[in-house]
Amino acid sequence: MINQPWHATVFTLFPMLYPGPLGHSVVGNALTEGLWSLDVVNIRDYAQDKHKTVDDTPCGGGPGMVMRADVLGDAIEHNHPKDAHLIYLSPRGRPFNQQIAHELKGKKQISLICGRFEGIDERVVEYYGIDEISIGDYILSGGEYASYCILDACVRLLPGVLGSDGSLETESFEGHLLEYPHYTRPRVWHEREVPEVLLSGDHGKIAQWRCEKAEEITRQRRPDMWQKYIASKE
Ligand code: SAH
Repeated sequence: MINQPWHATVFTLFPMLYPGPLGHSVVGNALTEGLWSLDVVNIRDYAQDKHKTVDDTPCGGGPGMVMRADVLGDAIEHNHPKDAHLIYLSPRGRPFNQQIAHELKGKKQISLICGRFEGIDERVVEYYGIDEISIGDYILSGGEYASYCILDACVRLLPGVLGSDGSLETESFEGHLLEYPHYTRPRVWHEREVPEVLLSGDHGKIAQWRCEKAEEITRQRRPDMWQKYIASKE
């Protein structure tokens, strides 16, 4: 059997938003090169009335509209690959992080449902046993923006997508530390010099300096990560 590239199916009411930012730079190049593939499903194609209605008022009253279970269900039935991992992007979901990016990258196929309005009918989530994922404690107007974040984070982990695989290992969140600061030319800018040690050519010293900086930044900015780091060293 031919090795299939990592595949994503996106369910959305706004198919024109794809590939959007995912069509550019490293992730876009990887798409063009076939290192991953993307299908976009217009949920509205599965609306059943002549007005192509996809939403209705919430049962029990309250503000806003809710995406209908029958319309979304049909879109899923016709397009969700059976062995793909089905996700609903939702502020109620488990908080997305680098560990989940690795987990999803390992899935071979994922399907992402982008909500709009107040969200989707709960029965769809229950029926399909959907994994709900949030990209943070704030409310977006649609899941499409969240899908960009998740797809970008997963695709850049795929083999061959980033130029040098080494750059992945030192990145923030790969260990328990945030990344050390970066500098490039010019050597002096607005009277600020590049730290001397980085120009010394002494790789041992440079590695030590970067480690100290990563520790300092993590300790100051992310006490939660710092505690885990300390624990991992004990
Ligand atoms: N009424 C909902 C918010 C709906 S926002 C609530 O209070 O929980 C509309 C859609 O945007 C959602 O269905 C979801 O798909 C998406 N969305 C909004 N915020 C998000 C977040 N933080 N993470 C992932 N998706 C989000």
